[in-house]
Amino acid sequence: MRSHLLNDATAESYRRAVTEGVARVADRLAATRAPFTGVTPAELAPVIDAVDLDRPLGDSSAALDELESVYLRDAVYFHHPRYLGHLNCPVVIPAVLGEAVLSAVNSSLDTWDQSAGGTLIERKLVDWTNGRIGFGPAADGVFTSGGSQSNLQSLLLAREEAKTDDLSKLRIFSSECSHFSVQKSAALLGLGQDAVVSVPVDRDKRMRSVVLAAELEACRAEGRVPMAIVATAGTTDFGSIDPLPEIAALADEYGAWMHVDAAYGCGLLASPTRRHLLAGIERADSVTVDFHKSFFQPVSSSAVLVRDGATLRHATYHADYLNPARTVVERIPNQVDKSLQTTRRFDALKLWMTLRVMGADGVGQLFDEVCDLAAEGFALLAADPRYDVVVAPRLSTLVYRYVPAGAASPEEIDRANMHARKALFASGEAVVAGTKVDGRQYLKFTLLNPETTAADIAAVLDLIAGHAEQYLGETLVHA
Ligand SMILES: *Cc1c(COP(=O)(O)O)cnc(C)c1O
Repeated sequence: MRSHLLNDATAESYRRAVTEGVARVADRLAATRAPFTGVTPAELAPVIDAVDLDRPLGDSSAALDELESVYLRDAVYFHHPRYLGHLNCPVVIPAVLGEAVLSAVNSSLDTWDQSAGGTLIERKLVDWTNGRIGFGPAADGVFTSGGSQSNLQSLLLAREEAKTDDLSKLRIFSSECSHFSVQKSAALLGLGQDAVVSVPVDRDKRMRSVVLAAELEACRAEGRVPMAIVATAGTTDFGSIDPLPEIAALADEYGAWMHVDAAYGCGLLASPTRRHLLAGIERADSVTVDFHKSFFQPVSSSAVLVRDGATLRHATYHADYLNPARTVVERIPNQVDKSLQTTRRFDALKLWMTLRVMGADGVGQLFDEVCDLAAEGFALLAADPRYDVVVAPRLSTLVYRYVPAGAASPEEIDRANMHARKALFASGEAVVAGTKVDGRQYLKFTLLNPETTAADIAAVLDLIAGHAEQYLGETLVHA
């Protein structure tokens, strides 16, 4: 069994096993004709149940054979041009290469004595990102497991920096389109049920800064403390970007921590043509970036960045076995002092490989392409009488709803759209997402694949209309 451990004696079997695995996945990727097979949980559960985990196959080729039926055949493939569902991207090859390297070497980024150069590489990428944001030399940050953790950590720092110990007094302001991890973080941080003030958005789904100003004023008048304002740079549903300069001015005025959640919009940091959309982000106290969304990195690859690195001390605890206070005096670099995690993946290596092979412009151009595609898709939807589209895209999402020509109640239209989404998923021909707008059921394209074309979008719209029409036709017959 020791022969399965990766070491110098097993280098050859490592090479063989990984090469075979890579060859199979490459074949599979090249052969996918649709993003999904449409398999149901009821169909797949018995296949997985039938595997006896206490009877190992002993051999990686056999395990790869088995993997075909338990996983690879029916996985959801984000690289397929008709996967238009959630914020999942196809991944760039240099990053996948980085992934293979980092898991084989298996550095852990908590301390220098478990990572050495890995720590310095992560720090250099944090500095690079801070440079793109426009932060000064005091800035710092750390890689995280995702945007949710980055938001949690940012709000932890904001709570610790707030000028009160009475948690019940603290308020967080974020738009009604902000990510639900803001609510979750508030709960985890021990803030009250109504700690998060939901600020309405304008027609373009951007936080209304006039209402924010009024809410801040009311908060102060009631003797509460505005702990943080969360501006979203790329809302999950609409890709809308809150007015960052106005929000920064209000954060200054009311002494609130300004957090920018750029989990989705961070791709603009590398965009050769759209960086200006993030103007004002440099005035934030903290920023969330999800490289695994708009930098085409495999999950996970994310970071939290702070304008003043000293604030990261709120995440610092010392353990004798790991990072005793002496290491600070001896100036031994470690990242665990800045992180909510202890053992931590060297995810930064993927971004490193990406930048070294493609450069920032290379990856930024990919994001530009999907933003351009979204503009084309918007034109298609706006010209199509079968569809109602919500808002012109800032980034790469489109939220729309099928509306029949004849009379149908809003509830029937809701059900027709829901049915179309499910029927499309069951067919596997395309995958789209859904969301609610003003209580009504809408559908959503999240465009993150530069290989998707306007023709793909048009074809998927025809498929959706077909499913919705069939549904309405059947309900009329049955009515
Ligand atoms: C996706 C997303 C998050 C959460 O990020 P995860 O990496 O999924 O944890 C937070 N905020 C926004 C705006 C997002 O789109």
